[in-house]
Amino acid sequence: MLETKENLLYFLDNKPYINMTNICTNKCVFCVRDQKQDVQGANLWLDKDNKTTKDYLNQIINHSKEIENSKEIVFCGYGEPLIKINEVVEIAKYLKENYPHLKIRINTNGHANAIHKKNIAPLLAPYIDSISVSLNAQNEEVYNKISNPKIDNAYEEVKRFIRSCVEEKIRTTASVVDKVPNYPIDLIRCEKIARSLGANFRSRDFIPNGY
Ligand code: SF4
Repeated sequence: MLETKENLLYFLDNKPYINMTNICTNKCVFCVRDQKQDVQGANLWLDKDNKTTKDYLNQIINHSKEIENSKEIVFCGYGEPLIKINEVVEIAKYLKENYPHLKIRINTNGHANAIHKKNIAPLLAPYIDSISVSLNAQNEEVYNKISNPKIDNAYEEVKRFIRSCVEEKIRTTASVVDKVPNYPIDLIRCEKIARSLGANFRSRDFIPNGY
């Protein structure tokens, strides 16, 4: 059943996720946002994109028992989490201080340095254990078709961001979505690019309707 409350924190298979924003600088052809309102019943659309760190900490505190029992928490929702860089850093710092066993991951489109016009990887490094960056394609032409970015030189920015995270010694994975109908990608070339940037590589198959 679809919940109506705003889920700043939500759970998939008992694993906690943080939903930072509904704004994104991509419009990926495989994005579940255009297909459905919810992920496993949790509504991920926010009434207003004005949530503060305190709003997030309130929901985290309300679910402290579940978080205590989790191994990892992931910043990933219906938008690009690193648009809210200050809040992400504050929340991650709180989580590290209060749940030291908890691994913290961010799933990102890799546009953050371009959005904030500075290298934000050093801000993440003290608190973030791993980061998954959507490489999405083997070259700019395919990337632009799949991701429909709203920023200039997005593919180069994504690659630069991956390298920035690697340089900060954050465990970095470049990811692609395979088997999206009509958008074939070259997995071997994508993996080569990821490795050349010093990152791990992961592909997952497209799942119609998200989850
Ligand atoms: S980067 Fe993520 S949230 Fe943004 S459009 Fe692509 S899949 Fe959706």
